[in-house]
Amino acid sequence: MSARARVLLLNAALGPLDYRVPEGMVAEPGSIIVAPLGPRQMLGVVWEADRMRSAGEVGDNRLRNLIGAVDAPPIPAALRRLIEWTADYYLAPPAAVLRMALASTSALEGARTLTEYRATGALPQRMTSKREQALARIGERQGLIRELALAAEVSDAVIRGLVSTGALEAVEVSIDSPFAPPDPDFSIPALSTDQSAAAATLVAAVEARAFAPILLDGVTGSGKTEVYFEAIAQAIRSGQQSLVLLPEIALTEPFLKRFTARFGAMPIVWHSDLRQSQRRRAWRAIASGEARVTVGARSALFLPYRNLALIVVDEAHETSFKQEEGVHYHARDVAVMRGRFEQCPVVLASATPAIETRQQVVLGRYTEVKLPGRYGVAQLPTITALDLIAEPPQRGRWLAPRLVAAIDETLERGEQVLLFLNRRGYAPLTLCRTCGHRFQCPNCTAWMVEHRLVRRIACHHCGHIEKVPEKCPECGNEDTLVACGPGVERIADEAALLWPEAKRAVITSDTISSPAKAAEFVHRMEARDIDIVIGTQLVTKGYHFPNLTLVGVIDADLGLSGGDLRAAERTFQQVSQVAGRAGRSAKPGHVYIQTHDPKAAVMQALVGGDAAAFYEAETEARREANAPPFGRYAAIIISSEDKAAADDTARAIKRSAPRVDDMHVYGPAPAPLAMLRGRHRFRLLVHAKRSIDIQQILRDWLGAIDWPGKVRVTVDVDPYSFL
Ligand SMILES: [Zn+2]
Ligand SMILES: [Zn+2]
Repeated sequence: MSARARVLLLNAALGPLDYRVPEGMVAEPGSIIVAPLGPRQMLGVVWEADRMRSAGEVGDNRLRNLIGAVDAPPIPAALRRLIEWTADYYLAPPAAVLRMALASTSALEGARTLTEYRATGALPQRMTSKREQALARIGERQGLIRELALAAEVSDAVIRGLVSTGALEAVEVSIDSPFAPPDPDFSIPALSTDQSAAAATLVAAVEARAFAPILLDGVTGSGKTEVYFEAIAQAIRSGQQSLVLLPEIALTEPFLKRFTARFGAMPIVWHSDLRQSQRRRAWRAIASGEARVTVGARSALFLPYRNLALIVVDEAHETSFKQEEGVHYHARDVAVMRGRFEQCPVVLASATPAIETRQQVVLGRYTEVKLPGRYGVAQLPTITALDLIAEPPQRGRWLAPRLVAAIDETLERGEQVLLFLNRRGYAPLTLCRTCGHRFQCPNCTAWMVEHRLVRRIACHHCGHIEKVPEKCPECGNEDTLVACGPGVERIADEAALLWPEAKRAVITSDTISSPAKAAEFVHRMEARDIDIVIGTQLVTKGYHFPNLTLVGVIDADLGLSGGDLRAAERTFQQVSQVAGRAGRSAKPGHVYIQTHDPKAAVMQALVGGDAAAFYEAETEARREANAPPFGRYAAIIISSEDKAAADDTARAIKRSAPRVDDMHVYGPAPAPLAMLRGRHRFRLLVHAKRSIDIQQILRDWLGAIDWPGKVRVTVDVDPYSFL
């Protein structure tokens, strides 16, 4: 029998390769190994040979030996199936998906240990006064040579001498100190009748240990978190793991507070900002099963959980669950697939579920668990639309008179105000009053956004930054630059003008750049050290501020201008979420929505609180257009620094498009962001009936075409961004 192993190496350009397993080495499917590749060594995972075809058939006699096994738990079978599915569905190289599972290379460097020493009880044959002093002071203590020497006030040599005589012995200690385990009974909350019923359903699903997608549907402030915490408690009690996905790192902070209050310990946190040592510690705890509860961004989905019993996707409608770089996956969909492979429930929690999710409920594939009202005495806020044409703000201002009056009253009562505008910076466009010159990013088809706080203009797509020029680069006139339209900084200026005594905070990704900053913001809000918050979508969800009673939406039309198929749905979700920050406690909340079109269906639904009617109309419109979830899309994005090369490739791809019934290929057209980070971009859009195997068609189609190395072709299955 030849010990042959198929190996998926961590190199996206390579397919699986075969190796020989040297005698004495264990290389079973899932084993993490080191393999030779040319003159180099590379990490890889052993795969079932019948599940992945080898990239190059090699006879037994020409196989190279594996170098060694990595001292880490193997990649479990359920995760291997998820990697295969993700690569297949999103047309990504399997190795690119595998890299997300092996997200911490330092975690694979074996158990890092330190050698510490402790007393054995044996006395040295030759006792000296220094040795006596050392043993007396060391007592039960354990530590490094240096640490013990310091504690005993002797030299290192004295301690070493005690080791050589056998009075002290070496102990190998892992530097991966264990995590404090969460206690399911630390603080059991008093749930409402509705919450108890919902929690019982989720707990039963965890006990059943079977695949069960569940939509946990409850208005903002209805206590969804407390409900799924009970399911987590059940998983902890049975010694199993839970994973909670959050749409943004910024939301981690309020989550951690609530989690710690309920379970008396922190969960394991996973996101892109972790230090190497933190990643290593978290990865190993997750792989060993020690990590009971993990909370993280979408990348936490691919980690090697040992015994996953529950997945929660919180704010499951959020579009930030869609990854727009590398492997273009949607974490909500992949979470459901992971639940299927792990045979565990997947809870999608949302106050404003995606139409795709609702449709799965309608089809009977997902169970719906509803939380009808707000928790306790809290009532849903009243929502008023302010017609910006009928009652416009003063010239050069952005807050309509009725909103200003409402803010006056709220501040007088000592309550807090949130002004929402999903636009960072001071102004979205800067132009020259004299010649009309507009500041455009040199790398992107995008206007530069003025950030007055740091006196820069910045591109929000590529990060290009320039100083605000003193004179117009076009006509040379000085002091002719004007800011057009508002960003949050401009709204903050207006608030400062109107309420100079009020304490203000601008909350955007520019100001909340770390979990610590988010914690500071929460603390200041709770301490009432802030009267008016001016924020982007970062403040729309997750937070619970009892004294916040007024929300003003500065420009509710903003999200509708993009014109992609989810624009109305997204606006509904976003405004509902931000409105949900108002009146979360005993004090009633009020929301004012500024719009140019108060008659638009989405505005009427928001004001009337009629989510059902809005969803129904949107769903019908999607059905008629054969748009998702009824039909499917895939985007092909062709980009290059060389515009002609990108254009040629895009046309060549279009020319070779297969003719398939019920499938249409649109384009190529320059992408709305025709230039991004210095690359010219063209798009093709494939639209097909749900039943068509669009992935297989794309694989065959693109697999038959060659394009120059300087051209990049990206496929985005189920796209969310149409830029
Ligand atoms: Zn000018
Ligand atoms: Zn740019």
